[in-house]
Amino acid sequence: MRVARDRQTTMDLNYSADERAFRAEVRAWLRDNLPGDLRDKVLRYAELSRDDLVRWHRILAGKRWIAPAWPEQWGGTGWSLIQRHIFDEECGYAGAPPLVPFGLAMCAPVLFAFGTDAQKARFIPRIYRGDDLWCQGYSEPGAGSDLASLRTAAVRRGDHYVVSGQKIWTTFAHFADWIFCLVRTDAVASRKQDGISFLLIDMKSPGITVRPLKLMDGGHEVNEVFFDDVEVPVENRVHDEGKGWTVAKHLLGYERLNTARIGTSRRELERLKTLAENEHDGGRRLIDNPRFRDRLSRVEIELTALSITELRYVDQMRGGRQPGADVSILKIKGTEIQQAITELLMQAVGPLAQPVAPDGDADAFDLFRASLAPRYCNFRKTTIYAGSNEIQRDIVAKRALGL
Ligand SMILES: Cc1cc2nc3c(=O)[nH]c(=O)nc-3n(C[C@H](O)[C@H](O)[C@H](O)COP(=O)(O)OP(=O)(O)OC[C@H]3O[C@@H](n4cnc5c(N)ncnc54)[C@H](O)[C@@H]3O)c2cc1C
Repeated sequence: MRVARDRQTTMDLNYSADERAFRAEVRAWLRDNLPGDLRDKVLRYAELSRDDLVRWHRILAGKRWIAPAWPEQWGGTGWSLIQRHIFDEECGYAGAPPLVPFGLAMCAPVLFAFGTDAQKARFIPRIYRGDDLWCQGYSEPGAGSDLASLRTAAVRRGDHYVVSGQKIWTTFAHFADWIFCLVRTDAVASRKQDGISFLLIDMKSPGITVRPLKLMDGGHEVNEVFFDDVEVPVENRVHDEGKGWTVAKHLLGYERLNTARIGTSRRELERLKTLAENEHDGGRRLIDNPRFRDRLSRVEIELTALSITELRYVDQMRGGRQPGADVSILKIKGTEIQQAITELLMQAVGPLAQPVAPDGDADAFDLFRASLAPRYCNFRKTTIYAGSNEIQRDIVAKRALGL
């Protein structure tokens, strides 16, 4: 992809011959190596087990494609940003299981930036190989959007901290080996952000209890995590005591970059179009219903615009500039598009979208169609997690537009 650097508003969106060859290589490899049963599960939105997630992680690690963005000495691929973008897009498009981001895309970048040599040597290879799965212990009851109000306390006793409190909405805590946590180490700091530290905690530590929270689709992906006088070695603190907020901000930037999920939305949109060509509404094909076609076209246009916006950020980063606060646009539009597609998919199949056969007619039951209503319900989460969309809009308004 060539971009005119003298005028940042001008972009040539054509990929170079090398980039097109790279895309073909990734696509062919995914065709040959993505296990059919995992792809099937992804395409019918089935809940993925720890084994499923680790299996796909290890296949990519075996190919040495598991952590493209990492420094090469730790296993990074040395790909350009465009190659990384193409890789993500192709994985989403192929129906590959998502990679658990908490170790690969959150904890590891934090350790590269702030970790000691001993912490890197201990944790990074295990994340790479898929030996340890991580979860993220930020949110608490009363401390979500206003994260700096968190109250989980860590009191220093010799070479240990003693941690007490509660985290909530902790994705995959039920099968994670480790949790990275924001904890309060100074209850009387003048700014509440200054009293926070960043700890790495072994989920097998005595005093940790994980309780499931069922989402509205009945799925289990999030949990409450309770800490009852949990001892954590001081050597598991990342960065200085009281510098947890600096670490947290570094990490949230990574979290927002990864939320657009354009490849996945493209795949889902294609599925929606196929459905709309085959489903009938009052004797005519759904695609011939002008209202439905209009809504579908709008989503497609928005997705194209989002894809161009994402390329703009990729290009900025290639030019050495970190994305500014306006990167939140990717989170806002990406998740709105994901939700709009789930809504249209559900509308396309009508009553067949429920996980029960309509009027007891078992012949009408179809696993994919029946997964659409639960999927619609599940995807309400996307505009809440990783910082709610209202908060993202506030960030764009204040820090990017200066309002
Ligand atoms: C499926 C799922 C998975 C999650 N996984 C994790 C995880 O692994 N680890 C983790 O730490 N957290 C996780 N979270 C928590 C998530 O980050 C929080 O839910 C989110 O930050 C919102 O916080 P809250 O739930 O406390 O809502 P609140 O902060 O109480 O907000 C409630 C509502 O008020 C709005 N609001 C709040 N403040 C403002 C404001 N200043 N201006 C305008 N509107 C405002 C919000 O947008 C929201 O609509 C997850 C959440 C979900 C739903």
